[in-house]
Amino acid sequence: MTDTAGPGSVSTQVCIVGAGPAGLTLALELARRSVAVTVVEQSAHFNRSFRGESISPDSVWLLERLGILDKVRDSTLETHRMEIRDGGRLVLNAEFSAFDQPCPFPMELPQPPLLAALAEEAAALPGFTLLRRSTAVELLREGETVTGVRVRGPEGETEVRAALTVAADGRFSKVREMAGLPYEKIPLERDFVWFKVPQPEVWDPHTYRVRINGDRHGLFIPTVPDLVRVGFNIPKGGLREMRKQGIDSLYARVDELAPEVSEGVRTSVTSWSDTSMLDIFTTVVPRWSLPGLVLVGDAAHTLTPVLGQGVNHAIADAVVLAPLAAKALAGGGPDSLLVACRRFQQAREEHVARSRGLQMRQERAFALGDPAKVALRRLAYRLVSSNGFLKRKIVAGIYYPLQEAHRSGRAVLPVAPRPTSSMS
Ligand SMILES: Cc1cc2nc3c(=O)[nH]c(=O)nc-3n(C[C@H](O)[C@H](O)[C@H](O)COP(=O)(O)OP(=O)(O)OC[C@H]3O[C@@H](n4cnc5c(N)ncnc54)[C@H](O)[C@@H]3O)c2cc1C
Repeated sequence: MTDTAGPGSVSTQVCIVGAGPAGLTLALELARRSVAVTVVEQSAHFNRSFRGESISPDSVWLLERLGILDKVRDSTLETHRMEIRDGGRLVLNAEFSAFDQPCPFPMELPQPPLLAALAEEAAALPGFTLLRRSTAVELLREGETVTGVRVRGPEGETEVRAALTVAADGRFSKVREMAGLPYEKIPLERDFVWFKVPQPEVWDPHTYRVRINGDRHGLFIPTVPDLVRVGFNIPKGGLREMRKQGIDSLYARVDELAPEVSEGVRTSVTSWSDTSMLDIFTTVVPRWSLPGLVLVGDAAHTLTPVLGQGVNHAIADAVVLAPLAAKALAGGGPDSLLVACRRFQQAREEHVARSRGLQMRQERAFALGDPAKVALRRLAYRLVSSNGFLKRKIVAGIYYPLQEAHRSGRAVLPVAPRPTSSMS
């Protein structure tokens, strides 16, 4: 059911603030377990460009198990290999087909079709409500316990009362702020500019390219339809300076890193309004829950865009939290909900910390400008590239930890049974 918030008060079992990948996957998994869930989303639509579109193989695997992958297949593009060039030379490449996993390939999948598919699937279930154009503006509390949110919608304010409130409201989470949960925001030395250009004919559309030159680097990620998503680093807060120099300064950066797209960028990016700026930081939140409240996705752990980990962890959070929360809601009181939320954090935070550590090491390597250090960076990439064992270990650690853990029985990730009508 899709609605907008209106006057009065509604009661539900779980209120999720934010209809991003974390919020909607969680809503679907809870609704499939017969939990009443209301999602509060400030936006009227899912049309968001320049968000997480690189889906790691573990997320592809999760989306397949959730029955969502088939619904979005036409909007996807598989990535078959990754290559890193430093100073114009190939220093590292990896073929994903070499990994014997149920879903070996990362995918490009824009968020609008993904979110639409999740919402459509959930809307077919009783107990699911999506309140659009509705912003959570205040937390409701009874004593120390969060009991829901006050929501401002086009028709006024509503109280959504719930046994569990979920902050799935992204990297600038207001709910986390309102709850007073402490966090550390670690800014990185750079920001990122994103834009899209036509796929050059000379490029294979299944290769994820990283190009580095000194302390400058760019990501060149093929996506649908026949486009390349380009992101390159600029100094922290440096966009204003670049804008002053005009759009030619952007063309010059592209010419330096990837002359193959020089022509495309001049036809498809004619002003700065065709670009999007990402302020790069990572957030460490020591405690993800309070009585009646839990954080998921970017609200619990903002990551950087390196190796497409944000969406991945958002979806994995939802799949891990749903059975724990559903069981606690069915059987126990508020204490068992709190225990469930703590178990969720314990199950997830090590994976998130591993991704963050790897991203921070990569970010530092990308930022090296000193020629001696640049030479060492190239050597390190070449060593990894030529050592099959090391390369497999690193790539598997980034892209296949969930599939690997599931296969070996170390961690079982149960997804809810699908209603038979949605399986065809
Ligand atoms: C430019 C850019 C490029 C990126 N590229 C990648 C990539 O290639 N791969 C990758 O894995 N990750 C990438 N990321 C990160 C990725 O987008 C996030 O990690 C992912 O979307 C997190 O999902 P989420 O559901 O936690 O939060 P979000 O996707 O941020 O969703 C939060 C939702 O909450 C809503 N909301 C916020 N506040 C309120 C409120 N008070 N009331 C109601 N609703 C509210 C928002 O409208 C939004 O819909 C990128 C991010 C950006 C910005």
